[in-house]
Amino acid sequence: MKFLAKLGEFDLIHQFFSHTTLSPKSSENILLGIGDDAAVIALSHGGSAIISVDTSIADVHFPAHAPAFSIGYRALVVSASDLLAMGVAPQFCTLALSLPKTDENWLQDFSAGFYKACELYGVKLIGGDTTASSILSITVQVMTFQDKSDAWLARSTAQVGDWIGVTGHLGEAAAGLAVWQAGHNFQDADQNIVQVLKAYLEPILPLKFAIGLHDLASACIDVSDGFIQDLNHICQQSQVAVELSIDSLKPSAALQNIPHSMRHPDKITRWQFSGGDDYQLIFTCKPENKSAIENLAQATHTPLTWIGKTQSGNCAHLSASLQNLLQDQTGFQHF
Ligand code: ADP
Ligand code: MG
Repeated sequence: MKFLAKLGEFDLIHQFFSHTTLSPKSSENILLGIGDDAAVIALSHGGSAIISVDTSIADVHFPAHAPAFSIGYRALVVSASDLLAMGVAPQFCTLALSLPKTDENWLQDFSAGFYKACELYGVKLIGGDTTASSILSITVQVMTFQDKSDAWLARSTAQVGDWIGVTGHLGEAAAGLAVWQAGHNFQDADQNIVQVLKAYLEPILPLKFAIGLHDLASACIDVSDGFIQDLNHICQQSQVAVELSIDSLKPSAALQNIPHSMRHPDKITRWQFSGGDDYQLIFTCKPENKSAIENLAQATHTPLTWIGKTQSGNCAHLSASLQNLLQDQTGFQHF
């Protein structure tokens, strides 16, 4: 008997669940299969469907006692983020809900949060499944149908010499989880605390930026499991490399100003480079599109950081001081 625990999350997927895409016969209608943020299926009339699914489990992906509104809001956002990574807006979703109990107040708040996110990002709930379970588990599938069959951003299409950009204030979400676990909540008088809590519990997706990026970027991924780990997916799948140092990401004002006891500089750097749950975008672009992307960021009020240019290779190279500080922690994996 083999021990699954010895397999990493990505090895496990590759070993047991990649057959569909690897078989040429079954892949005729699969334009993009396992291994990207979403799959792309060719539709018979010439368009395409872009589909992704994510599960959020209590005390694995979010604290079980987080506000129900936030749990509902976040469940939609974490799934929708994968379609933004493809440069498309999510259109429809299904919701599979496994509940340990039926508490009406909790369900009221959960559904208000879920629908709030649906409204913000233009997604319609079209079905789902509801079951009893010992653990609260929420699965959201998101999908988009488009007339074109060749229009999406993949992880595997960056080229050497492209610029690498990242949106948002990475690390605020990981800080938000830490301050939540330390007992803070949205009623806190410190606005820096409230901002990082929001970044974790109710993140804002860069929807308009993602749609504009569609025609300007060469590759894209969303940051859900940690900046370095997710950047490495682009590097490995596109066969490019990038140099990173502690200065590659500047901490936001909120990160620099949360309470002293929590903001040791090493901790802030770890939150930025390997903390998860940011739901922002890492993308690459040809040098000639850089200024158009800067204009797009300004027009959509999206914070944007340029990391540098891609080189030949297949991974992110960390400076000695960054390597020292992070050790092997470059992102979240389930196993
Ligand atoms: P993301 O973080 O963008 O949601 P994941 O890291 O969860 O992506 O998954 C990586 C890739 O593996 C994705 O293309 C996903 O669809 C695929 N995948 C994950 N689990 C399975 C599975 N059990 N069967 C088939 N494909 C899977
Ligand atoms: Mg993703």
